[in-house]
Amino acid sequence: MTTPLLVADRQRYADVRDRRLAAMLAEEDAAEDLGLDPLERVSCRLHRRWLHHCVHSADHVIKVTGHRWCRDCSSVASVGVDELTGDVLVRCGSCGTAPGTAATRQIVRTCRASLAAAQGFFPDHAGAR
Ligand SMILES: [Zn+2]
Ligand SMILES: [Zn+2]
Repeated sequence: MTTPLLVADRQRYADVRDRRLAAMLAEEDAAEDLGLDPLERVSCRLHRRWLHHCVHSADHVIKVTGHRWCRDCSSVASVGVDELTGDVLVRCGSCGTAPGTAATRQIVRTCRASLAAAQGFFPDHAGAR
């Protein structure tokens, strides 16, 4: 039974102003308990933000898995997110290339999904601004 858990999770994020984000956080918290890979999430439990909004944080560098980490240079990689085109670029701060790892591909995939999920909330207003 996941419903009581979901209610508790929703209350946990009652103060998150973006209600679509709050719903996603609650949903993914519940899914994570059921086996979802935390690194496949599009909402971040730690920062309570969409992934593409906080992936820049040092907390998202995971040397062991190679997330935002260039093993060749032992350097941190940055993530560039273009909110208009949906492009996501991972780039090592030292050699300037994208670490060719599964972790890099996962970052690109999840950040794109995060962008899409966040924008899905404003289908009518996006063009009106
Ligand atoms: Zn985060
Ligand atoms: Zn490098």
